Amino acid sequence: MQQPETLTAALTAQESEVGRQLQICNACRYCEGYCAVFPAMTRRLEFGKADIHYLANLCHSCGACLHACQYAPPHEFAVNIPQAMAVVRGQTYQDYAWPANLASLYKRNGLTVALALALALALFIALIMRQPEALQANFYALIPHNMMVSLFAPVFLFALLALAMGVKRFWRDVSPAAVIPQEAAMEAVGDALRLKYLDGGHGEGCNNEDDAWTPWRRRFHHATFYGFMLCFAATCVATLYHYLFGWHAPYALTSLPVVLGTVGGVGLLVGPAGLFWLNLKRHPMHGDASQKPMDHGFTALLFFISLSGLALLSWRDTAAMALLLAVHLGAVMALFLTLPYGKFAHGFYRCAALLKWAIEKRLPDNLKLKGE
Ligand code: SF4
Ligand code: SF4
Repeated sequence: MQQPETLTAALTAQESEVGRQLQICNACRYCEGYCAVFPAMTRRLEFGKADIHYLANLCHSCGACLHACQYAPPHEFAVNIPQAMAVVRGQTYQDYAWPANLASLYKRNGLTVALALALALALFIALIMRQPEALQANFYALIPHNMMVSLFAPVFLFALLALAMGVKRFWRDVSPAAVIPQEAAMEAVGDALRLKYLDGGHGEGCNNEDDAWTPWRRRFHHATFYGFMLCFAATCVATLYHYLFGWHAPYALTSLPVVLGTVGGVGLLVGPAGLFWLNLKRHPMHGDASQKPMDHGFTALLFFISLSGLALLSWRDTAAMALLLAVHLGAVMALFLTLPYGKFAHGFYRCAALLKWAIEKRLPDNLKLKGE
């Protein structure tokens, strides 16, 4: 069978470095109980491109194996698995991006670009807004519902398609022709929803700035993820209200879309702010410093979406509503536009790697001797 293009190229310097370090780990195996990366590694004697891409995305960058490692720098072996994995992980987002010629956007998707895009879109939205005589907390008096849908739906659908195509290409490479047993799928979903591998393997959490463990990286990830999902649920419920029941916004503060959006909004304030704070304090040997602008751009957009959304709810009966609505919609549109080429994508690749591991661990281990 002909190999996909992403696998035929020679290993990059960064992939070779991951391979070199994994060979040392495979002889050492001290970190076997920390996360899925190590048991998955022991099933291999050699590490090809697909193995490295898979393992890099299976690593959650908890830092445990770096702080436990007797071969970490300044040792001459210079083993730093979370950093080597992070560099390759960032590269895989570009390798699998769809359309391929937009892959370089990952590099440019930093804080400045995210905020400048949000601002430009807010300005554009402010310019196309109507000037009604009375607002009465009604967003659609400023931008008719149909216009809002025709602006946002194509961008959102393209973002979903681009993400799905990227993950499909990744899956084709790392797991060709894999059958997905139901229990493996359930396990992968459970591991993803609990962020199991952000517990450091001992349940105490990640190393962030030093040897001490902290549960906060996992908690802030959870606040961000569930906050996002609640806000998404609020939008879905409001859409059903609009089209199915003919109940049009604005909705009461006690209505389901507003309650879901408010609780989700608080999660989306706390989570991204916390992740940003932890990222600033992160140990310099963790992660890939060149990806920080992408991380910060993503967390900043989520934070401003939530802040402007909650402010909009608080002041929807005032003259400030038009400005707040423009800022909020500008930030949402900027997030949609950058979704497939920014940090958001990492969740999808991680889920695919977790699924691959849940399948693989159920298969016989060819490297184990009979009766071992
Ligand atoms: S990270 Fe270090 S301690 Fe852990 S398995 Fe690899 S070489 Fe051994
Ligand atoms: S950093 Fe954490 S998740 Fe990544 S390989 Fe090391 S122990 Fe596993």
